[in-house]
Amino acid sequence: MDLGYKLRQDFPIFKNGICYLDSGASSQKPQSVIDKQNYYTEEVYANVHRATYTIAQKITDAYEESRKKIADFINADPKEVIFTKSATEAINLVAHSFGSIIPDGSEIILSEMEHHANIVPWQLLKNRKDISLKIIPVLDNGELDYDEYEKLLTDKTALVAITHISNVLGTIVDIDRIVSSAKKHNAKVLVDGSQAIMHQKVDVKKLGIDFYTFTGHKLYAPTGVGVLWGKSDILNSIPPFLGGGDMIDTVSFEKTTFAEIPIKFEAGTPPIVPAICLGEAIDYISNIGLDKINEYEKYLYKYAFDEITKIKGVRVIGTVENKAPILSFIVEGIHSYDISELMNNENVCVRVGHHCAEPLMKRFNMLSTIRVSLALYNTIDDIDLFINSLKKSLRILG
Ligand SMILES: *Cc1c(COP(=O)(O)O)cnc(C)c1O
Repeated sequence: MDLGYKLRQDFPIFKNGICYLDSGASSQKPQSVIDKQNYYTEEVYANVHRATYTIAQKITDAYEESRKKIADFINADPKEVIFTKSATEAINLVAHSFGSIIPDGSEIILSEMEHHANIVPWQLLKNRKDISLKIIPVLDNGELDYDEYEKLLTDKTALVAITHISNVLGTIVDIDRIVSSAKKHNAKVLVDGSQAIMHQKVDVKKLGIDFYTFTGHKLYAPTGVGVLWGKSDILNSIPPFLGGGDMIDTVSFEKTTFAEIPIKFEAGTPPIVPAICLGEAIDYISNIGLDKINEYEKYLYKYAFDEITKIKGVRVIGTVENKAPILSFIVEGIHSYDISELMNNENVCVRVGHHCAEPLMKRFNMLSTIRVSLALYNTIDDIDLFINSLKKSLRILG
């Protein structure tokens, strides 16, 4: 179990000696991704889908090649893979475009453990349209309340929009169960995979869902690129989100017709270099193997969990078995911000705050937690550093 020691050598940032435990907010980038970024900036750079000269063709090919890699990675058809700027934009796209065709009186089901990115777009839709939002509660251990979910479904449910893995609790949602109940009511299912795609194999066909979204920068790629996968029949039947260059077939002031999917949803100049780098990041993790990554991260998590629960006063939030390597906790009587400040003095990078999930914080009656989120480059040494630094902070503050 020394995978992380080997892999962290691929990440130049670790030369600075940080103990990075905030990959759930954004992950570090391997050298191969950085090299790709430099190559398509320094040597081969032009806009895509427009000009016919050599470098324009080369970068267009690389951009489309990356789309294919992403499609293979999630077992989808490349034309169903849309590049967006982020997961946030991908969900907003669905809320706008799919949201525009659902009938008045429709219901959309979310959960109490959603990231704000999967709450606010639906509230904005509700401001424009006569729809209602229903919320699946979360149990004390961080599990979704599936019995309550089943009660919320009706024949008016147009969509269930749910996270695959909670960015705070690490809970893995049983998507099979979500889908099988939703389909009995002909409801569509959107899964926010921002916290899942880097930890476990995702097969959108097998899941039987309608939309899947994720963000590049948590998957070892640069910021500025996200992905929306959608079933082609739905993508073909909903209007575009943004209008502009590239996404059209012909334009006149009388009538404009749109390009075929996926370009119909990629108005304007896309995030060209980040999108190419996302393909490279997928190559990087595919070469290691997601099963191996998953097994290693579980081993790290278990060690961290066992060690932290030995510390008096620590309360872990989200304690279901078999979860993602995300550890949220509070320490009774001590401010999370004070702890993280002291840990920062020792180069231990943890996240403190509401984690863009205020309704979930409210559910657990807290304003913030400290969150440790692990990635393939973390090691047992990182966790020992973290635990020692936490103990030391508590001695100072307690
Ligand atoms: C990070 C995150 C998002 C948003 O990703 P952006 O890159 O900020 O758009 C959405 N949902 C979850 C669960 C996340 O963790």
